[in-house]
Parts: sequence; C-alpha cells; structure tokens
Amino acid sequence: MAVTSFQPPIRCLLGPGPSDVHPRVLAAMARPTVGHLDPAFTEMMEQVKAMLREVFRTGNDLTIPVSGPGSVGMETCFVNLVEPGDTVIVCQNGAFGGRMKENVERCGGTAAMVVDDWGKPVDLGKVAATFKQHGPVKALAFVHAETSTGVQSDAAALCRMAQENGALTIVDTVTSLGGTPVLVDEWKADAVYSGSQKCLSCMPGLSPVTISPKAADVIQRRNRPIQSWFMDLNLVMGYWRGGGGSPRVYHHTAPINALYALHESLVMILEEGVENSWVRHARMHNALRDGLEAMGLGLLVEKPYRLPQLNTVTVPDGVAEAAVRTELLKRYSIEVGAGLGALAGKVWRVGLMGASATPANVTLFLAGLEDILSGMGAKIEKGAALPAAQKAFAA
Ligand SMILES: *Cc1c(COP(=O)(O)O)cnc(C)c1O
Repeated sequence: MAVTSFQPPIRCLLGPGPSDVHPRVLAAMARPTVGHLDPAFTEMMEQVKAMLREVFRTGNDLTIPVSGPGSVGMETCFVNLVEPGDTVIVCQNGAFGGRMKENVERCGGTAAMVVDDWGKPVDLGKVAATFKQHGPVKALAFVHAETSTGVQSDAAALCRMAQENGALTIVDTVTSLGGTPVLVDEWKADAVYSGSQKCLSCMPGLSPVTISPKAADVIQRRNRPIQSWFMDLNLVMGYWRGGGGSPRVYHHTAPINALYALHESLVMILEEGVENSWVRHARMHNALRDGLEAMGLGLLVEKPYRLPQLNTVTVPDGVAEAAVRTELLKRYSIEVGAGLGALAGKVWRVGLMGASATPANVTLFLAGLEDILSGMGAKIEKGAALPAAQKAFAA
C-alpha cells in the first residue's frame, strides 16, 4: 500500500463543532514536544489553569483540562460525584441530557428525569416539582447550551433551585463556554465541564472542568473508590495540583502538544476579552438571523432561548435537507450540521463558534445558501439576505 501524507481540505466549519481552529493555535501545536514533568511545561500548566479560571469566571482551585473530549469531562463529573444509591435529577431537552442519564445509571445512581421537548428550555416548574417528589437528591444535572437544538436554559435559576434543595449541580457548558456567559462562581455551580473545540476554537480532545470546593470535599469523602481509575480526580490532581508542598506525580502522559494549543486559544480569548467574545457571538447571530429572515427562512427556537453560537434553521417545505448540506460542502467548502433525533431532516444546525464567528463566514454562508436554494427552485426571497446582514453588522 502506497500511502502519502494526509492533506485535509480547507473547510469553513459552521456546524455544531469542531469550529475553525485559528492558525496561531495550529502553530502552537507544532512546537517541540517536551516531557510532561519538564519545568517549562509545568509552568505552562499553571498558566492554563489560571486562564481557565478566568474564562469560567471562577476562583475554584480544582480547574483543569481533562485529557479527553467533552464526553470525558462529562463522565469525570458524574463518576466522581455519583455513588451507587444516589438520586440525581437529570434535565433532558435534547441529545446530551440523555447521555447524562446514562452516566448516572452506569454509576449505580437513579436518574429522576425532567423531560422537555426538543427545542424548548428546561422547565423550571417541572424541576421544582421533581425536587418535591423525591427524598434527598445528590445533584441536579443539566445542559446549559443544548447543541442538538440550539437552546439555552436558565443556569442561574437552576443552580439556585439546587442550592435551595441541598443538591449539588453538574452543568454541561461544552457549547456555551466562551460564546455566552458562563458564570461559575456567580451561579455557585459545583461541577462544570466544557470542550476545547466549540467556542474556544481549539482542536477537539480536551475538556476543561472546574469543581467547587464543596464538590471537591464530597469527592474526597466518598465511601467507596471511584470506579474509573483514569477519571479519579483524586489521582489526576496528583499531577495537576502543583505548587504547594507535594511534588507532581505521573498519572498519565498529558497530551503535551494539545495543551500548547489550548494555552494559545486561551491567550487569544483573553486578548479579545471574554465579554467581547460574548458580544461578538451575539452580533454574528443577529446578522445571520436577519439574513435568513430576509430570505424567508425561520429559526426553530423562540427568541429568548436562542443560542447565538448554534442556530437551528428550519428547512423550507419541499427542500431536500441533506442535498443542501452536500452542495454547501462541495461548492463552498462549508460544513453545517444536520438535525438530530426528532429534528432529523427538519433543520440545519449552523454553528457560529469561536474563530468561525466572523462577518466573512456569515456572509459566505448566506450567499452560498441562497445560491443553492434558488438553484433548487425553493421559494425564497432573492437578493435580500446580504443587505440585511450588512445592516446588522453596521448596527
Ligand atoms: C459537543 C458536546 C458534548 C460532547 O463533546 P465531545 O467533545 O464531542 O465529546 C457534550 N455536550 C454538549 C452540549 C456538546 O455540544
């Protein structure tokens, strides 16, 4: 077999993640590999922890990038906090809440489900009723930004409700971190995980996690050992803790070059300013929305719950959903996402995350979509989308 180097095509990544990785971040990853206990590297680790605290808006000492994708961050939170016999209230309003239920059950816990329709936020009244129906609840778990539907739920209110009921919180911020406000200390959230490849625009494979002192205490006082050796935070912290008295000890070989990349992407978001990044995501969303509406297309989610970084666009009647995505990729090198579950065939998921959230990308996407839809004979308003988007950029 004659193989040559793999040369990926250059894409414009406007799906549900990964997002475009900035050349600065790609360049950082190409720097020389050093040892995971090299003093130069461990100094960089401390900077990564400090920058993650700024992005998460927290003072939590236990704030680290877990080695693995967002799913490993999710599982880390569950396996460390949930013990056999625990009851966890799990909110499910899309694909990722279902995975939380799986995690609770695989930890030997009972998941008390609060189910809402895909496309709707978590219903606070139902969560309150579920707390009333159950005895002691160990934790409330919910997805802040549901990437499968483009909905944002009220994390501050959900965390408050958990605190009033003496429960911990496990919060998925994979798609929200860097794109919309994630305020870990203000919310008093306990176990929060994210991903590197959405609004942080780093390559996939790392999962920032932050744990409150209260939750860290619960983890240290567990009755039985954590069933996962790899994700046991008590062991992982032997490597990541640093400073203080005890020396760092080897747990697993850290993904050195991926961490250079995360470091660079965090430097970039702090250079921009985290608040400015939220504002940029909102502005790009407004322009995309105005362009789509001018074309005659609609968004699935009601206005107050829309995620700027993940737009669920309703497919017009009679349009072949998958064919449009194929043409976008073939002719414009643009990747967008398909609908999942109940939304399959009904929506496109258009991500404007991190480095992908630019006026150039919004413009290219609107122009490409208009071109493809009008070529298919779809009933759309022609020539209106770009002026509407331009107007929004100028606002
Ligand atoms: C992408 C995503 C995940 C999973 O992240 P991976 O890096 O794919 O494992 C979890 N939750 C949400 C809300 C996501 O969008």
